[in-house]
Amino acid sequence: MVRIMADEASPGAPMRDPSVPPASGATRPSTPSERGEAPEARWFGFREVDPNAKAPMVRQVFDSVATNYDLMNDLMSGGVHRLWKSTLIEMIRPRPGMTLLDVAGGTGDISFRFLDAAGGGANAFVCDINEQMILVGRDRAIDRGVLDGVDWIVGDAEKVPLKSRSVDVYTIAFGLRNVTRIDSALAEARRVLKPGGRFFCLEFSRVVLPVLRDIYDQYSFTVLPRLGQMVAGDREAYQYLVESIRQFPDQESLVGRIEAAGFGQVRYRNLTGGVAAIHSGWRL
Ligand code: SAM
Repeated sequence: MVRIMADEASPGAPMRDPSVPPASGATRPSTPSERGEAPEARWFGFREVDPNAKAPMVRQVFDSVATNYDLMNDLMSGGVHRLWKSTLIEMIRPRPGMTLLDVAGGTGDISFRFLDAAGGGANAFVCDINEQMILVGRDRAIDRGVLDGVDWIVGDAEKVPLKSRSVDVYTIAFGLRNVTRIDSALAEARRVLKPGGRFFCLEFSRVVLPVLRDIYDQYSFTVLPRLGQMVAGDREAYQYLVESIRQFPDQESLVGRIEAAGFGQVRYRNLTGGVAAIHSGWRL
């Protein structure tokens, strides 16, 4: 079942930021930090944007890539994203009876793997802001014969349409860098997790091996946008993906933000020399 959750936090309807004073008058404009705004809310890749415009712009990217998303993932990473996702599932150790919430779950990769590994009797909610991604995922589920145990929800990571303390595991894979306000998404993760539940974030991170860093930079800034143009007919969407990776907090900064959201024993594990990392924490 696909549930479409309409709420005022959803993108589409541009909203005025109530904390920003009207343009009239002689007062100087407030700075983002004075307004309590998250620094990442102003950045769409390397472009500075109005925070209210960011979510609709991100949604447009994933509208554009949805049908080619899985193929592009394999092409871009040479299949390595599959190994990273396998590592994530090993760390979760799925068991029957567990409930997973996979936010920014896209086409359902993490949830399918979770349900397979649990071996029956587990449940997964796939929540994504983009209906196109959810619809592609639901079709994949039908093709795979996965009809029970998955609920597909269109919703924002910053306002998850689930009850507080309702899930055992929260995952967000290659999603956190796309949300407008990382700290709001982390607060929501804590809210929906049961005490003793676990948080996992799989995301691109900072390469820690200097020799790999140069090769990776070359590859991502030259090859990826071209690949996006050739396969998905959208160079800009893949340019955004590359830039958004560079704007995302590094491993240690993200630890700090997860701790600030109230998680305990926050750790990370680098994958492929820090190209990606899995952060984890306990909901106390
Ligand atoms: N997790 C999937 C995977 O690993 O294959 C999909 C990752 S894809 C790179 C990023 C996803 O984040 C997209 O499906 C996009 O629609 C979703 N997304 C972006 N902003 C979001 C938000 N604020 N709330 C929920 N999902 C969001």
